[in-house]
Amino acid sequence: MDLIKKMKDRIAKSGTSKKEILYFGKDSVKRVRFLQELDEGYTFQFHSNWDPSIYELCEDPEDHSDCKRCKEGIALQDEFAWSVWSYDDQAVRILKFKASGVSPIPGLIEMFEEFGTIKDRDYKIKKVGSGMGGSYVVTPLDKERFKNAKAKPFTEKQMLDLFREAYKPKDDEEDEDEEEETTTKKSKKNKKAKKEKTLRSKFLELEWDDLKELALEIGVSKKTIRGFDEDEEELVDYLFDEYEENDLEDLLEEYDEEEDEDDED
Ligand SMILES: [Zn+2]
Repeated sequence: MDLIKKMKDRIAKSGTSKKEILYFGKDSVKRVRFLQELDEGYTFQFHSNWDPSIYELCEDPEDHSDCKRCKEGIALQDEFAWSVWSYDDQAVRILKFKASGVSPIPGLIEMFEEFGTIKDRDYKIKKVGSGMGGSYVVTPLDKERFKNAKAKPFTEKQMLDLFREAYKPKDDEEDEDEEEETTTKKSKKNKKAKKEKTLRSKFLELEWDDLKELALEIGVSKKTIRGFDEDEEELVDYLFDEYEENDLEDLLEEYDEEEDEDDED
């Protein structure tokens, strides 16, 4: 089974995944219709850390007493989320952004203040560049009525469940893996070595065909990939220049999980 098909199967199996959350690749544009007002979005608290890489919901956002990550002192950040109709996907998606950092929120606030609403027209949201140097451009389209019976916003509870599924604590996943596995010494050793390697070197270990599928999955065009003429190192350099490490890490995780499942067969 090829990787894309495997990923799709996995998404179908899990029922929910990050696919519900709008992802902006470098220089990508999305046309959306907000299904809730800007001041009616929901706030979620995420624990976020670079090394070790942690990104998950706070388990006790009210009291911060019954949450493992709070106890560990992992930094918290507020994130805002809205339901939007995504024209590209023809589905309801979640627009989720940090309060600080690179986001289209300041632009959207401007529009909200200008028109008194953000629901009366479509918006084009464009990401320019990537990483910390990136920015977003918000373009309002003409005022137009929106009628679509399929476009129902997620409730706060539904969003919470989606985020819980999409950003599962990594430690727990690893524990599960280790329990399931009838671990030989060798595979344990491999696993440890794997963990210690940098993300970049993990990508460099991939065969061209796998690398190509991952690149396609994250949104690199076939033409661009062809341009690398099967030079793995060049393509890896390109991926790390164009995309954020968080996203590359997620991509590789999906891939690793599939590989592990194959090993069990
Ligand atoms: Zn917490």
